[in-house]
Order: sequence, then structure tokens, then C-alpha cells
Amino acid sequence: MSGWVVVAGLGPGDEALVTPEVRAALEQATDVVGYIPYVARVAPRAGLTLHSSDNRVELERAAHALDMAADGKRVVVVSSGDPGVFAMASALFEALEAGPEHWRALEIRVLPGITAMLAAAARAGAPLGHDFCVINLSDNLKPWALIEKRLRLAAEGDFAMAFYNPRSKSRPEGFARALDILRDACGDARPVLFARAVTTPQEDLRIVPLTDARPEMADMRTMVIVGSSLTRVIETPRGPILYTLRSA
Ligand code: SAH
Repeated sequence: MSGWVVVAGLGPGDEALVTPEVRAALEQATDVVGYIPYVARVAPRAGLTLHSSDNRVELERAAHALDMAADGKRVVVVSSGDPGVFAMASALFEALEAGPEHWRALEIRVLPGITAMLAAAARAGAPLGHDFCVINLSDNLKPWALIEKRLRLAAEGDFAMAFYNPRSKSRPEGFARALDILRDACGDARPVLFARAVTTPQEDLRIVPLTDARPEMADMRTMVIVGSSLTRVIETPRGPILYTLRSA
């Protein structure tokens, strides 16, 4: 039996947003590996072994997946959203590049998923309809100075901005600094979307001007989107719609 590794995105939360391609891979799998809450989204069944691990062990998890595939297992590595966006696909290839030569002969596929940014944008309207950039605000894997530089340059370029990992308990001060930088660079009126737990029963969307944006409005389940100078809010009886003009 020849093994393989699929790195799959489970989408932002709603089962209806798991692609048929990812569903098919999970049906064929013998093993699923991933971060605990993501593996918990995979239904157990006979013949399928679930391997959950903590968030901080991505390279070990990747090596485990590759070793199992080399032993003939059909392994799905699960991420939330899309596996290529701040997630396991890069970790898997990092392990592959540094690992034993025989891993390179394995069949490895990356199956896309709907990333949190796109789910959040769709819920709010169309804030990413013109040029935008994406920044991971976690400084776990890069220095804070680099985040600050990218924020300033994105503001200078008048991009709409989407932020993953905006704020955690272990580093609550970073996001407050990010908001200060943005107020300084973009002015107070710019609309900001806080989209929490999008497409899950806990979903909560809030649109506020930058001047009213508070660090506590974001946590690790929140996607933050800051508009560009072309981003508008349409007030409707069904709630506000956030969108960005397509032409400058
Ligand atoms: N690979 C994932 C992102 C992993 S980083 C993807 O493509 O979506 C984790 C961050 O994603 C969280 O801190 C949060 O900012 C965002 N996120 C993930 N799921 C979300 C959801 N359902 N609603 C809002 N933000 C979400």
C-alpha cells in the first residue's frame, strides 16, 4: 500500500464550507493529525486514527505525518481555514526540506480551504474589493519591529488590511500598539471590522470607526479588517454593509 500526505483546510467553522475535495480525502484517510480543536472537527470512524497535538509542535507534527505516510498510511494534516495561510502547509514543507531524502518521494498534496479572511469579508460585504494586504499580528515567529514596519507601509500604500491572530492573552499589548499606529497613519474615521468566530454559532460582527476600535474587541478567534480610503459603510435596516470601491 502506498501512503500519502494531504494537508487540508477545514474552512472557518461551518461544515457546509468544507470542500467536497477535503471531505473525500478525510474519507480515504487512515490517520488525521493536527492541533487539538481542528482534529476535534473530524468525525471519528472505524479505521481512522486521530492524533491531536498542541499548537506549538508544528514541525514534530509534520515529521510524524511524513513518517506515517512513509509507512504506507494515508495521512490528512488538518488546519482551520486554508492550510497555506499561517498554518500547517508551510510547516510540512519546512520539515520535508530538512528531513530524510526518502520523504521527498512521497505523494504530498495541499487542498485549499476557505480562509477566515474571506469568510469574514463575505459576511460584512466586500471590504477586500480593491487592493489589500494580509498581516499576521502574532510576534511568535517574527520580531514586533517588523510587524510595525509592515503596518506603516501598508497604511502608506493605502491598502485595506486583514489581520490574523490579532490578540492573545500572552501578548495583549501588541494589538493596542497596532491600533495606535493605524490611527496615526490612517486617521480616525477609517472603518474597522471585528469578525469573531465567523460561520460558527458564536459568530459576532462589529464595524466601528478606527477612533472607537478598542483592543478588547479582538481575541484569538477574531479576524480584523481595516478599510482603505476607498472603504465605505452603507447603513441598512438589516445592519451595516462594509465595502471597498473597485476604482481609485
Ligand atoms: N489557516 C487559518 C488561519 C490560522 S491563524 C485560516 O486560513 O483561516 C488563526 C487566526 O485565524 C485566528 O487568530 C483568527 O484571527 C483567524 N480565524 C480563524 N478562524 C476564524 C473564524 N472562524 N472567525 C474569525 N477569525 C478566524
